Amino acid sequence: MARNRYDAIVVGARCAGSPTAMLLARKGHKVLVVDRARFPSDTVSTHILHPPGVASLRRWGLLDRVVATGCPPIHTYAVDFGPFTLTGAPGTDMDPVAYGPRRTVLDKLLVDAAAEAGAEVREGFTVEEMVVEDGRVAGVRGHGGNGRTVTERARVVVGADGRHSPVARAVKPEQYHEKPQLLCGYYTYWSGLPMDGRFETFVRPDRGFAAWPTNDDLTVVIVGWPYAELEANRRDVEGNYLKTLELAPAFAERVHAATREARFVGTAVPNWFRKPYGPGWALVGDAGYNKDFITGHGMHDAFRDAELCATALDQAFTGTRPFESAMGDYRASRDRQVLPMYELTTQFATLEPPPPEQQQLLAAIHGNQQAMDGFARVLGGMTSPAEFFAEENLGRILAPAR
Ligand SMILES: Cc1cc2nc3c(=O)[nH]c(=O)nc-3n(C[C@H](O)[C@H](O)[C@H](O)COP(=O)(O)OP(=O)(O)OC[C@H]3O[C@@H](n4cnc5c(N)ncnc54)[C@H](O)[C@@H]3O)c2cc1C
Repeated sequence: MARNRYDAIVVGARCAGSPTAMLLARKGHKVLVVDRARFPSDTVSTHILHPPGVASLRRWGLLDRVVATGCPPIHTYAVDFGPFTLTGAPGTDMDPVAYGPRRTVLDKLLVDAAAEAGAEVREGFTVEEMVVEDGRVAGVRGHGGNGRTVTERARVVVGADGRHSPVARAVKPEQYHEKPQLLCGYYTYWSGLPMDGRFETFVRPDRGFAAWPTNDDLTVVIVGWPYAELEANRRDVEGNYLKTLELAPAFAERVHAATREARFVGTAVPNWFRKPYGPGWALVGDAGYNKDFITGHGMHDAFRDAELCATALDQAFTGTRPFESAMGDYRASRDRQVLPMYELTTQFATLEPPPPEQQQLLAAIHGNQQAMDGFARVLGGMTSPAEFFAEENLGRILAPAR
């Protein structure tokens, strides 16, 4: 222990890493957070930040900084199924809106908050390998811009290093609830496409797309098709993207009147959970739990992990609880909170039509404002699908229709 310069080394400084470092540093722990990227910089991700993520920023005292960037609030979610649209409010009185801040903006703000809290931030630092001693992770070895190999030691190394996590690759955690890539998504940015505070999504056979406002008066539009079509469509992404939008003619017209301001970016991701801790290591964010981006829950899930993991590590560092039991609670709490949404997300990501009983339910929700708000809160992560789809609630929604 005496040789450890740090309590925690956090690898990765975006949505999961910087908040973990910030929260640990705020509790008085000695933290190093490293990232091979420099900030501000972009990453392959769109960026709807649902109300639970906004609530985290508020709790951490960072929401005003996002608002100050001019990123417009999003007060309404509209899900267009073709025959009807479900339009509702995703938030609560306390946290009524979502935001769609660019990752160049949000991630920089998070890195700065970690530094302000007292964490040492090293940008442009690539971790090459874990230092392992007596069967436990004891630090990292890596290099900064000058290429010189550096070894740093800590009581715990936190992998906040994304879905290709080098930390996870080294510690080989148990992986479960696995599902393959289900869809691929391509996005770009448009000017002259006003959204009036709305997050709009469109559900069509084998296709899904969504649009919402972001910084600099731009609107991000992401289009998804089944993973099985990746090869067939990759030679003409723009053509397939625009053809897909035609499935909602009124929206396609709005896009035709707009100007594309960026290139197309796209990818597909697999789905899994990983055990997020072991001797001398922990995982947060995508490194520990990865799922399709169709519901846009990755960023606020990363925030939640940061809070749960920092709380558990604080308990372990201060000797309040043994590491195993505190981190076991982190894992159990994460899994319990996200599993119902994981199932819904991976169902949506198949882009198959909803099963008949769900179609009946969606039709019954339509026009019932309370139920539409409830549905918007499920999409926004404020209400668990388990709660919304519980028999009692379904009975209430379906009763008038019957
Ligand atoms: C196409 C797409 C669209 C998405 N849209 C949304 C959305 O609208 N809303 C939403 O909430 N989520 C969305 N997501 C998910 C979201 O991007 C992730 O859940 C989120 O970025 C996870 O944050 P993270 O900090 O865990 O990982 P990341 O953001 O991936 O950050 C990992 C960091 O680790 C660093 N790193 C990796 N290896 C090393 C190394 N060896 N040494 C040093 N540093 C290293 C990387 O440089 C990186 O900065 C989307 C994802 C994709 C792919």
